[in-house]
Amino acid sequence: MSPTSESYLLPSNDKPREACGIVGVYMPNEDVAKTVFFSLFALQHRGQESAGIAVSDGKEISNYAKMGLVSQVFREESLKGLSGFVGIGHTRYSTMGGSKASNAQPLLVNGPRGLLAVGHNGNVINANSLREEISKEWQIEFERSSDTEIIAELYVNTPGIEWFDVSATVMRRLSGAYSLVMMNLNELIAVRDPLGIRPLCLGKLREGWVVASETAALDTIGATIVRELKNGETLVINKNGIKSQIWSGSRPTHAMCVFEHIYFARPDSILNGKLAYETRLKMGAELWKEAPVSADFVTGIPDSSTPHAVGFARESGIPYVETLIKNRYVGRTFIEPDQHVRDDSVKMKFNVLKSVIKGKKLIVVDDSIVRSTTITRVVKLLRNAGAKEIHVRVAAPAIKSTCHFGVDMATLDQLIASNMTIEEITNFIGADSLSYLSISGLMTAVENNNDSYCRGCFTGEYPIPVQLEMDKFSLESK
Ligand code: SF4
Repeated sequence: MSPTSESYLLPSNDKPREACGIVGVYMPNEDVAKTVFFSLFALQHRGQESAGIAVSDGKEISNYAKMGLVSQVFREESLKGLSGFVGIGHTRYSTMGGSKASNAQPLLVNGPRGLLAVGHNGNVINANSLREEISKEWQIEFERSSDTEIIAELYVNTPGIEWFDVSATVMRRLSGAYSLVMMNLNELIAVRDPLGIRPLCLGKLREGWVVASETAALDTIGATIVRELKNGETLVINKNGIKSQIWSGSRPTHAMCVFEHIYFARPDSILNGKLAYETRLKMGAELWKEAPVSADFVTGIPDSSTPHAVGFARESGIPYVETLIKNRYVGRTFIEPDQHVRDDSVKMKFNVLKSVIKGKKLIVVDDSIVRSTTITRVVKLLRNAGAKEIHVRVAAPAIKSTCHFGVDMATLDQLIASNMTIEEITNFIGADSLSYLSISGLMTAVENNNDSYCRGCFTGEYPIPVQLEMDKFSLESK
């Protein structure tokens, strides 16, 4: 089956969706395509719509990007066609620009600075005005509807002797979230935006260097974790080694997306110096302190809320039990689901251990609620299986605003906490009680003492001014 055929994600996903995973590898004297592939494979959770790898051997850049999962897009043969010592990889879920092959990355552009391949994680919030500005400035005809093309054109057209000069000028013009991996024929360039909203880390592998969205990708390929990039940092890696520069206009402390800690990043990734798994345990513990309730068992919704539930159980002394068994192979299918399957899609994902929960009082810990589709179906599933009481505890504050920085959160009218009170949500999802973690509980769990996180989707206050609601297709018609 062609990876470009239409595919369907089963069951309907009711979580915020991360935009992208990015990887860059520079290995003198080695072919890097397989290393890029396996690092990208470790970042599949950050985007499932398209995947791509660009590689250079110093003479030409080969680029292969298609719609589909990393394992669907690449075969042994396609990797054999990608030969070279420097490469970047990208796996995408669209937050600006539609889900289509022309927006798959890496994007390859040509300009005064030569050929440049670009992979981007994040979202540029002044994309519309910048696109108009630079199309007049450099007479550029944009071919795609993603903000990444704007970033790529900026980097390839901006004058400057060194990449650091170019990067400083580009950072002055761009507003929003952008972690970038870029390469020309001979160099790897990595950039983290001046607010440090999306993660990016550096690793050492034999004689070379690797940059990736998450440390779990470095672990997967056997690289040693060196450090996370600083906000406003540009790294240039070439035959002369590695050089770094931080843009002088960068925010003194970063404003990293706190949702990376809650849900997006793999639990085995280190973010801001902390293992995501341990931070999630703390979120569960804080939640128990804020919203205790008597019950027979604590349970989670596998897999993403399991650490939060374990933390809640440990702090409360109430035993943690598994109640839902997840079909590990559920994901994309090329068979279009019929209406009955769509309506009951949670059953395709979870089956209940009925005899474990019959007649029991349960605390169900979830990591976040967006529209409430999944939690409503899970509560119904547990209720129908004989649970006596179901108390829902959410290890994140209520999501009341949309994201402007590279996460698909649904629209404001679809966010249940933006439209209902806690009491109304409790009734709507069919629970006996419901509590969310407070912002201060969340900040305690992430050990924040200098307000260095974006918390915009909970508070409506963003680290930079934003428009009221973002339209991910706003560049489509231009
Ligand atoms: S608004 Fe929410 S999801 Fe978006 S960057 Fe900020 S914390 Fe992350």
